Amino acid sequence: MSSPAPGISPIRPLPGPLRQAIERGQARRAAGVRGRFAPSPTGELHRGNLRTALLSWLDARLRGGEWLLRLDDLDTPRNRPGAEQRILADLRWLGLDWDGELVRQSERRALYATALSWLRCSGALYPCRCSRRLLADVSAPHGGLAVYPGFCRLRPRHWGPQQGRLPSWRLGLPPGALTWEEDVAPWGCLDGPTAVGDVVLRRADGVVAYHLATAVDELALGISHVVRGEDLWASTGAQVAVMAALGPPPPRYGHVPLWRDAQGHRLSKREAAEGLESWRQAGHDAAGVIGALAASLELVPAGSRLSAAELLASLQLERLHEVLARQAPVAGRAAKLQRDSAI
Ligand code: GLU
Repeated sequence: MSSPAPGISPIRPLPGPLRQAIERGQARRAAGVRGRFAPSPTGELHRGNLRTALLSWLDARLRGGEWLLRLDDLDTPRNRPGAEQRILADLRWLGLDWDGELVRQSERRALYATALSWLRCSGALYPCRCSRRLLADVSAPHGGLAVYPGFCRLRPRHWGPQQGRLPSWRLGLPPGALTWEEDVAPWGCLDGPTAVGDVVLRRADGVVAYHLATAVDELALGISHVVRGEDLWASTGAQVAVMAALGPPPPRYGHVPLWRDAQGHRLSKREAAEGLESWRQAGHDAAGVIGALAASLELVPAGSRLSAAELLASLQLERLHEVLARQAPVAGRAAKLQRDSAI
């Protein structure tokens, strides 16, 4: 017997704790701007992350808003010992101060579990037993991001183990476009079924997927403005789909350029991986690093030395956005990034 196609049953109210968390988030959003920086503690912040952190901090502060620091630390095997302390120390050293307590996703598992079980009981999820290997075999050889073809959509919904393996849980996307506002680029728009595909929200190993945790957090933490690297542009479709299933609208996004060399190429692995330590060893202090990060986007002349607070005081939001808008359109760059990383 096959199951009906997934879709949210409109009559099920959100359970109390999730509803309250989301309502609190929405009230905070309504009260003022809230940005966030959300590194994964998988290693040192490299210079691209540091520049994104600076841009996100500047954007929130120039709007007179709050800036939250959230650690995306759910994928425990990938977390590195000491990475959390180093991330915090680096941000402090650069003068990028955050508001409130540090948020760790690993401490919010109960909220994500509530969201997952509500989505499941509402009929929005289905169990998927497709292996990575099968999906790799059916995806286009040079295609960018593989879109899940929906093999398990209409299969009977057995949630238990089969042949010793649990299924992953996918969100079935209804027909139609997923759209979001971009600050310095045209609106993002991706067709749900053909460009995003049914999103895994709980992996077969039981780990809550990044898209679910991120979508719940943007809503429950009341994030109004997300500034992050353009490599996450396409992930926004998946996160917007989860937020649509939960109810409230997504935040606004600013997907900012990754650090490239003068010819526009992505940095080599070694260059891209360099963090603050290599700058310090080369004799830079925080003013030198902030100057270099800002000069890399022509926010200040090359060789400038200034603190994060001085940079903030010298800038206006319009100028920050003008500088970012001068880069090629974000969707085009993001599509190229996907192609590059698929090869
Ligand atoms: N934790 C993710 C990363 O470090 C980024 C999350 C985000 O900004 O949405 O790539």
